[in-house]
Amino acid sequence: MPFETQAGLAVAVEAPDMWQRIKANLASRMTPQAYQNWVMRTELESQDNGSLRVLVPDEVTKDFLEQEYSDEVRGSIRELDLPVRSVVYLTSTGRVTISDNSSAEPVFASASGQLNPRFRFENFVVGSCNQFAHAAARAVASFPSRSYNPLFLYGGVGMGKTHLMHAIGRALLEGYPGMRVVYTSSERFMNEMVACLRANRMPSFHRHYRSADVLLVDDVQILGGKERMQEEFFHTFNELYDHQKQIVISSDAAPKATSGLVERLRSRFEWGLMVDLQPPDLETKMAILDKKAEMEGVTLPEDVRIHIATKTKSNVRELEGALVKLIAYSSVTNTPITLSMAQQVLKYLIPGSERRITMESVIRTVADHFQLQPTQLKQKSNTHAIAYPRQIAMYLIKELTQSSLPEIGRVFGGKHHTTVLHSVQKIDGLRQKDPDLNRLIHKLMDSIH
Ligand code: ADP
Ligand code: MG
Repeated sequence: MPFETQAGLAVAVEAPDMWQRIKANLASRMTPQAYQNWVMRTELESQDNGSLRVLVPDEVTKDFLEQEYSDEVRGSIRELDLPVRSVVYLTSTGRVTISDNSSAEPVFASASGQLNPRFRFENFVVGSCNQFAHAAARAVASFPSRSYNPLFLYGGVGMGKTHLMHAIGRALLEGYPGMRVVYTSSERFMNEMVACLRANRMPSFHRHYRSADVLLVDDVQILGGKERMQEEFFHTFNELYDHQKQIVISSDAAPKATSGLVERLRSRFEWGLMVDLQPPDLETKMAILDKKAEMEGVTLPEDVRIHIATKTKSNVRELEGALVKLIAYSSVTNTPITLSMAQQVLKYLIPGSERRITMESVIRTVADHFQLQPTQLKQKSNTHAIAYPRQIAMYLIKELTQSSLPEIGRVFGGKHHTTVLHSVQKIDGLRQKDPDLNRLIHKLMDSIH
């Protein structure tokens, strides 16, 4: 299917080229991060008699696709049964001039080439879940080095960290022409470093990163446990920080909770402002859907918006995936988007969307998370190690199932319904105040099956 892609909404529904189809297939084989880093910005240059010539943004991407992903690409070609004999990757340096002596720095991609044009502030929907992160990102984009340094954005998958980082980069390129903005994913940072080490070109690596006016480093958790990389990053950080250059970092967790981070780097991350992005609530999800639909030039009926927003998990990427499918389906079949179409299309898309959440499935999921047995949660024990997970389980059951308070009480060893109510209210209150608990609740909700 031509629209099988997680790449964003810009999918070709009518006759895509063969590389488009391979890309779409790769999207389902790779992690979203890897896809974003290595495949998203590639495009077909020409196809001729079974040989594809594919334009890639830079040398590192070329090496990476040739060396690390050739099996995946072959796998996609096989799976799609395409008449492709060879794939050649070409850097687009001939098309974008990097500098006057472009042979000196072929490894690095320019920031504008790396930034997804769709990830702008104007396209970012602000809700209570992300308003602080958004405000901080805006401030940094308007007054780099004078607001918060470093700015550390963290939150779970698909919460909009990359979107905000790209938006900052884009706004700076536009607002401050001539400013050297360097954006990189941590994976790319590592690969560039390895490539430079191999080629004895560390000075150019240092020059590239240490001459930035603004350095944006995405997904820094990937550096966890890799001490040599962290050391390199540490020196880059210091050099920039000492010269009052702006640094923006993202991670899937707060510095103290990012595992394998060396202490000196962690403490530096904590020097600036740390803000987290929470999972979007229903209202924000619907607003995001509207925004994405608007960008695609479609209007979603009210019942479809509600259906998609309630059936997808809190990850915005999934929300988008659902919308892409729906738009593609509607366009291919040439029929308007309706609730019954959405129900049918999304049934296959969202595994378990038809699932029935039961008390038992909730208990199992919560027990698993806390490394307990389901039976332990149902016992009378009131030690904190049991009581707290049990309260969370009660809360989730109340939220996700139709069970009544007395029914819930019975499952948990015959507790009185007021005890259940107390637990539910307690977790509800805590959740408002404690972002870590809130994240955990979302994670559990997403993993119940
Ligand atoms: P992360 O880096 O936190 O994993 P991304 O920034 O890649 O998440 O976001 C995943 C997708 O969701 C992107 O397509 C992004 O545009 C979209 N998205 C996330 N949050 C928002 C938001 N608040 N408004 C609009 N789009 C969003
Ligand atoms: Mg990201």
